[in-house]
Amino acid sequence: MATYDDDNIFAKILRGEIPCKKVYEDEHVLAFHDIRPQAPVHVLVIPKGKYVSFDDFSAEATPAEMAGFFRAVGKVARDLKLDAPGYRLLANTGADGGQEVPHFHVHIFGGRKL
Ligand code: AMP
Repeated sequence: MATYDDDNIFAKILRGEIPCKKVYEDEHVLAFHDIRPQAPVHVLVIPKGKYVSFDDFSAEATPAEMAGFFRAVGKVARDLKLDAPGYRLLANTGADGGQEVPHFHVHIFGGRKL
């Protein structure tokens, strides 16, 4: 499993070194608008823990971190009023998955029929 890179862009956002358009934050997660939106609503949800990818997170995160993360993803989608029309979740994982930023994140896409 890849080593976590403390200089990745989402680590810098979590440390407050780079701004983000925050949607939601709690003890486990930060959610913010994607800088290059691919849908009318395009939000990223990231855990505060240092996990490289979904593979890393699913293997190493504590039950509290996992529950906190996935509950937050659902809450953010509901807060954005995406639950009734529906939305898409995506977690690009690793090189073949097209993951660019090596800090686990889930994309929430919505706001139109995808
Ligand atoms: P992925 O290919 O799943 O790793 O996606 C990384 C996502 O992060 C892309 O959709 C980028 O547009 C987004 N992104 C990169 N830098 C920033 C940033 N500073 N603020 C918000 N989103 C970003």
